[in-house]
Amino acid sequence: MPPDFLREAGAIKDEIICLRRDIHQYPELGREEFETAKKVEAYLRELGITTRRAADTGVIGLLEGGAAGGTVGLRADMDALAMQEYSDVPYASKRPGVMHACGHDCHTAALLGTAKILSRLKDRLPGNVKFFFQPDEEGDGGAQRMIDDGGMEDPKVSAMFGAHVSVGLPTGKIGLRYGKAHAASDEFDITVKGRSSHAARPHEGTDTIAIGAQVVTALQQYVSRQVDPLEPAVVTIGTFNSKGSQRNVISDEVKMTGTIRTLGPEMRRRTAEAVRGIAEGVAKAMGAEAEVVINESYPGVVNDPAMTEFAGNAVKALLGEDAVVTIPNPSMGTEDFGVFLEHVPGTFYLAGVCNLEKGTAFPEHNNRFRVDEDALPILSAVHAAVAWDYLFYHRSGL
Ligand SMILES: [Zn+2]
Ligand SMILES: [Zn+2]
Repeated sequence: MPPDFLREAGAIKDEIICLRRDIHQYPELGREEFETAKKVEAYLRELGITTRRAADTGVIGLLEGGAAGGTVGLRADMDALAMQEYSDVPYASKRPGVMHACGHDCHTAALLGTAKILSRLKDRLPGNVKFFFQPDEEGDGGAQRMIDDGGMEDPKVSAMFGAHVSVGLPTGKIGLRYGKAHAASDEFDITVKGRSSHAARPHEGTDTIAIGAQVVTALQQYVSRQVDPLEPAVVTIGTFNSKGSQRNVISDEVKMTGTIRTLGPEMRRRTAEAVRGIAEGVAKAMGAEAEVVINESYPGVVNDPAMTEFAGNAVKALLGEDAVVTIPNPSMGTEDFGVFLEHVPGTFYLAGVCNLEKGTAFPEHNNRFRVDEDALPILSAVHAAVAWDYLFYHRSGL
C-alpha cells in the first residue's frame, strides 16, 4: 500500500500556505532569486535533504530513499514578474513593481511540502527524488542553465515531472495534456540590404523598404498557405525599421525583428527554415540581400504520452477518477520545463486553483491574479504520489 499522501499533505497544509505567503510577499525576478533560494535551502536542510546550487540562484535538493532504486526529478520555478500587484490581501507583495502573478510562489511552496512529506517517508522510499527549484523561468531559461550545471547528473535523473497552477481548472482537478502542450518560441532578426539612390531614379538603387514589405507579406503567406491549418504556427514581425532618413532617398537598409511560435520540434524546424529561406529568397529575387539571424529560445513542452498516462493513474488513485481532466488544446504560451523533457521523458501537469468565491477570476500575468490556496497541499500530494509511484514501478533502474 502506498502512503496516504493526501493525509500527509493535509497535516502540513498551514505550513505550506505559510511558506507560499512568505514567498509571495517577497517576490524576486529571474536571476535575482537570492532570498527565495536561501529560504528553500534552509527548509530542505532542516528536513535532512542535501542541497546544492545550480544556475546561481537555483537549488537542487536530493532526497535519498532507504530502498535502492532510480532517481526521479520534480521541478518548481521560483521567479516573479516585473509588475505591480493590485491586491488587498495581507500577504500582498511588499516589493513595488514585482509580483508573483504566475503562481511560481505556489509551485515552490507546494514542492517544499512534497519534500517534507517524502522526507518523512524516506526509509520506505524506493529510490531518490531530486527537487529542482528553478530560477528564471520567465526570463531566458533557468532550466537550461540548471542542466548545464550538471543538474540531471549524479545521480542521473531518469524522468521529470512538474506542474503549473491553472485558474482554468477548479481546485482538486489536475489537467493532463498528451504530447505537444506548450509552444516553442524563437526569435529572428532580418536585415535587408540594398543600395540608396535618388527617389526619382529608383532603378539606380535597391529599395529595401519595398523589398522588406514583400518579405513581411511572404512570411504571412507562408503561415496561411504552407502550414496545415490544423497545425498552429505564428510568425509575428514586431518591429520594422528603415535606415532611411529622407523622403527623397531610396533607403539602403531595413531591419525587422519578430518571433516564431510553433508546436513540436518538426514544425519548429520547418518554420525557422521557411523564415530564413523566404527572407533570403524574396530579397535575392528583387536584387537585395537579406541577413537572417534566428535565436532559439524555449523549445516548448512535449509531454511523453506514457508518462502522462502514468501520472494520470497516480492522480486517479490519489484523488479519484474524476480529478483528471484531459486538456484538449495546447497552449501557444511558452514554458521552459520542456528543456528537461528534451533529455528525459516526463510530463507537465496543471493544478486547478480556481474557486471564484476566493477571487480567482483573473488570469496569470494579471495584477489581480489570485489562487485558491486549498489547492497547494493537493499539489504537494500529487507530486509525492507521482514520484513515489514512478520509483516504485521503475525499480529496475529504468
Ligand atoms: Zn508566467
Ligand atoms: Zn509560470
